[in-house]
Amino acid sequence: MFRDARSILDDKRTFFKEREVHVVSFRWNEFSPEVKVYQNERLVELDLGYIDYNVSQGKWCVGSFEEGYTPCPDDKRVSRFNQCDKCVSSFIPKLKCIFEPGPCEDCVGGFCDEEHVVYLAFHGVYPKVGMTMKKRLKRRMIEQGADAYAILGTFEGRVKARKSELYLSEELGIPQRIGSKKVLKYMSRKLDKHIIERKYRGVRNQVPIGKLHFINDYPIPRPLRAEPKLRAAAGIHRGKQVGLKGRFLIYENAGLQALDLSDLQGRKVRINESYYVEV
Ligand SMILES: [Zn+2]
Ligand SMILES: [Zn+2]
Repeated sequence: MFRDARSILDDKRTFFKEREVHVVSFRWNEFSPEVKVYQNERLVELDLGYIDYNVSQGKWCVGSFEEGYTPCPDDKRVSRFNQCDKCVSSFIPKLKCIFEPGPCEDCVGGFCDEEHVVYLAFHGVYPKVGMTMKKRLKRRMIEQGADAYAILGTFEGRVKARKSELYLSEELGIPQRIGSKKVLKYMSRKLDKHIIERKYRGVRNQVPIGKLHFINDYPIPRPLRAEPKLRAAAGIHRGKQVGLKGRFLIYENAGLQALDLSDLQGRKVRINESYYVEV
């Protein structure tokens, strides 16, 4: 005999359990995304399958990752960067060199000295020019969720690469940034490789450029059935994960919603772990 849903619920008791965690990192291991949170003095991986998060407005320093993990000694509030000056890696001598390198006289031995590349990347059919450490290129492309990329040039040091990035962006009329809205909108379309190849050839006719590589292995259905709506990181997110690409986790909740996981870093998240127990 079947019982209706109501009577089944009557037989169960709901336990509400919440835990608060501090999001300290978001990264891709090849094509597997990983969000690490600090909780009860250890690092654990955040479940990205079914999400039920209440995300803080503020951000706190994510701590230091050198020689294992150390949480921020001051639990310092941060805004522009995810780390405070105390916790930042010695590999990054000056935080500002991440975005605007130079002058780098006292950056010796850090990432400012590393070999860098300037690249052309496509997000959907939209091109952008960017730069990164040469050894991080593939990882960087996956982090950003690029669909295709090619190398425009290799440089000794970050300052030279940055100068070339600015020059090439100007010369080619290609931006250094593509808005989230465009990126999300294109996720609901089939990737048009012909347009990308045509634009790539257009660039190749103007400046030297390496081979074009496509990236197809993101854990996300392509195309999505609808355009995801970008939600502010702070606030409540609840629903079943649909897929991940670049910074975005797409989940289902009365339509497709997008959460920027890179913007989750530093925030404190209350995770709802309500569950039913038979009585
Ligand atoms: Zn700190
Ligand atoms: Zn520097």
